[in-house]
Amino acid sequence: MKKYVLFRFVPTMGCNYRCSYCFIPNDHKARPETMFGNHPAQVWVEAMALWSDYDVEFYMWGGEPFSTNGTYELVKGWTKYAHVVCCSRIDTNMAYVDKILELCPTPKVKLNCSWHREYESLESFYGKVRRLQQENMVGMANFVANDSNLKYLKETCGKNLDNLIAMFDDIGVFMNVAADFSIFESGNFLKKRKYRNLLSKYTCPEDWKQLRCEKGACDCSASQHFFTVHQNGDITPCLSNDVVGNFFNGTLDTKQKVFCAERCPSLIAYPFRLDNDLPIRSSLMEYVERNRRHRREMNV
Ligand code: SF4
Repeated sequence: MKKYVLFRFVPTMGCNYRCSYCFIPNDHKARPETMFGNHPAQVWVEAMALWSDYDVEFYMWGGEPFSTNGTYELVKGWTKYAHVVCCSRIDTNMAYVDKILELCPTPKVKLNCSWHREYESLESFYGKVRRLQQENMVGMANFVANDSNLKYLKETCGKNLDNLIAMFDDIGVFMNVAADFSIFESGNFLKKRKYRNLLSKYTCPEDWKQLRCEKGACDCSASQHFFTVHQNGDITPCLSNDVVGNFFNGTLDTKQKVFCAERCPSLIAYPFRLDNDLPIRSSLMEYVERNRRHRREMNV
C-alpha cells in the first residue's frame, strides 16, 4: 500500500451567506482572497500529477469552497487521477448544489452538507441532499443542535431530532447532530446534564470525547500524513509554521510522530492521534459508519 497523505486546502474564506453565528467577519467574507490568485486552477490540477507515489485525499473548507469558480475545476481535474482516492471531504453550505452537479459530479468526493436554516427551509435542503445522494456525493448532512435551531425544528418543521434523523435515513443519508459546545461551558449544571442526555445517544463515546477534547496530551501521527497547503504551494504540518515541502515541486519531508498537548476537536484531525484507533483514511465516512452502528445500539 502506498503512503497516505491528506492535503487541506482553503479555496477561499469568502462566503455567500452571512449566518448570525459565523466566526468569520462579514467584511472578510465579502472581499476574499482565493487560492487561485497566483496559480490558476489548471496549474493546481497539473501539479497533482507530482503526487502519484502517494494515495492522496484532499479536504476543503472555508468560507464556502464552491463560491469560487476554481474549486469546480480542481474537483473535476484532481478526481481524474487514480492516486486521488476516495473519499475526499468538502464542507459546503449547499448553496451551489446545481453547479456542483453540473460541473464536477464525482463519487470520490463526499460533501459535509450543512443545513443553514436562516437561509434555507428543511424541504429545500432535503431536496438538494437527495439529488447529491443520487450521485453518491453525500458524506453526511449536518444539523447544529443549538437552542434556536432546535426551536425552529420543533415549531416551524414540527419535528424532533429523531424525526429529522429518520427523514434522512429514508434516503440513506446520515444526519449528524452537532452539539453546541457553548452549553457545556456554561455554569448551568442541570441544563448541561439534560443536553448531554439528549445528544449522547446520537454520537458514539469515542467521538464524543474527542470532539469535546476530554482526552489528554498524546502522541500523534498528523505530521506524517496530514498537511495544510498554502496559496503559494508551501506545505506545513498540523500546528506548525515549518515549511516541509511544496505542492508545486512535489516535495514533502514527513516527520516522526509528535507529542501534542493542544486541543484537537476536529474530526479531520483527531483520527491521527494515537490515543484512539480510528481509521485515518476516509475519516468522514468512517465517522458516519461507526456512528450509525452506535445509533443502532441505542435504538435511534
Ligand atoms: S493531536 Fe490534533 S492538534 Fe495535535 S498534532 Fe495531532 S492532529 Fe494536530
